[in-house]
Amino acid sequence: MKCDRCGEQIPAGDEMDYYGEILCDECYMRALSPARACDPWAVRSAQALSQLDDAYSALSETQTKILRILAETGGATEEVLAQKLEMNLPELMREFTTLRHMEKVRAQMRDGQKIICLW
Ligand SMILES: [Zn+2]
Repeated sequence: MKCDRCGEQIPAGDEMDYYGEILCDECYMRALSPARACDPWAVRSAQALSQLDDAYSALSETQTKILRILAETGGATEEVLAQKLEMNLPELMREFTTLRHMEKVRAQMRDGQKIICLW
């Protein structure tokens, strides 16, 4: 018996019936599980992943530094951050706004002080 799809010789007893086709083991498995590219969920999650990559690769050196300092300190005031980064406050706030939009950092009130910390 030969496989209807690939023409391989099928060992006796191993032939599979697939909607009237006689298939070998391999072609039968392939027929049962269509190509991954056809799976809309797989495509969607791949897109989500690449969007995540984009979000990270979009970070500037300064933004990466801000996140690192916040991770090390557990949060800092704008003034302390500006000092550590040797930036002025308006520059820092511009970066902060960008990071805030990416949901990477947020502001929090601690003991009446505005602290910037990781999201
Ligand atoms: Zn086959």
